[in-house]
Amino acid sequence: MLSPQQIKEIRNDFPILKTKIYGKPFVYLDNAATTQKPKCVIDEVSNFYANYNSNIHRGVHFLSQRATAKYEEARGIVQKFINAKSFEEVIFTRGATESINLIAATFGDMRVKEGDEVLISHLEHHANIVPWQILCSRKKAKLVVVPIDNNGDVKLEELVKLISDRTKIVSITHISNSLGTINPIKQIIDIVHKHNIPIIIDAAQSVQHLKIDVQELDCDFLVASGHKLYAPTGIGFMYAKKSLLDSMPPYQTGGDMILSVAFTKTIFNDLPYKFEAGTPDIAGAIGIGKAINYIQDIGLDEIYEYEKHLLEYATESLKKIKQLKIVGTAKEKASVISFILNSIHPHDIGTMLDMEGVAVRTGHHCSEPIMRRFSIDATTRASFAFYNTEEEIDVLNKALYKVLKLFA
Ligand code: PMP
Repeated sequence: MLSPQQIKEIRNDFPILKTKIYGKPFVYLDNAATTQKPKCVIDEVSNFYANYNSNIHRGVHFLSQRATAKYEEARGIVQKFINAKSFEEVIFTRGATESINLIAATFGDMRVKEGDEVLISHLEHHANIVPWQILCSRKKAKLVVVPIDNNGDVKLEELVKLISDRTKIVSITHISNSLGTINPIKQIIDIVHKHNIPIIIDAAQSVQHLKIDVQELDCDFLVASGHKLYAPTGIGFMYAKKSLLDSMPPYQTGGDMILSVAFTKTIFNDLPYKFEAGTPDIAGAIGIGKAINYIQDIGLDEIYEYEKHLLEYATESLKKIKQLKIVGTAKEKASVISFILNSIHPHDIGTMLDMEGVAVRTGHHCSEPIMRRFSIDATTRASFAFYNTEEEIDVLNKALYKVLKLFA
């Protein structure tokens, strides 16, 4: 496991962690919303703009070729990171949201007909609900939801029961952003594949915590965001099996996704460019490549072990506050603790924690159906990354006692 000395060195890589909030040390526990960026990523992005900013592909000049090479190198880094079979299977997008919209609008449109069903779980982020809801409403199909139990675990026996001849697509999160549940994703993929149904994995909350191997998982699609992976905002990726990408129409159209255009006919570009219309976020892609190199240098297994330890430490620490109730007590959890504290509104808790320098998220965390499932409007969510420390969790604990005292 990462030692305190290693964590100290890691913290030095993140300039923002030295910030003071109202004169107090900054305790950043909102990592499920977005992660902070190491200096090497900030420098890499800045180096692109300072030294070789250029548009990619088709440019004959030196800087354009350099930018193209770096952009494609980043694709190769993502490919290796998730162990995709080929670079053609990695599409840069704006993030998990755009990736799911892409899949719903192209693959979903091809596959789902009137009377069909799309299966999701009750654990989903709005980004993995609304695109399917819109597709279903357009196609007169039905969105079917696999329930969760009181701990926040997906009921696998219900998943098995709900799959039928009408099920055309299953889309499910790997890790819940609001409860932290880690779904037994390989088991779910195997269940779904027994029925020859394609499955999409929302890995927005998992690629930064767990090793992902898309070939071993055998998922059909996998989506993720750069900004939760220590990379810039506005960049992410979609993985899909090549045979599926070949069969899908393009999502957005225009420049770069074509081989040739005439007024009578357009020939689309080869993979992966067929799905990358227009000028992409070149600096963002280069940034994601650097961020992946950075976390791989630390080691994903080490990160997983340390974050597991932090989650256990934080869970024990918060459990000591008897007025606090943790929402989401799944068997396997990652880096997220959602809680309610007496009947104090989470926004008040968040505001008071902020005064102590502690940044958490409050609200429905873009998963309103989960809040309704637990008959609450909102939670306070503390979420951790490998640069967080036990001391920071102690600060959170102390600050929560202060909140309780004030609202007593
Ligand atoms: N799915 C999950 C599980 C998420 O946590 C998020 C972001 N909160 C998204 C999808 C949306 O990702 P993005 O920010 O890349 O649009």
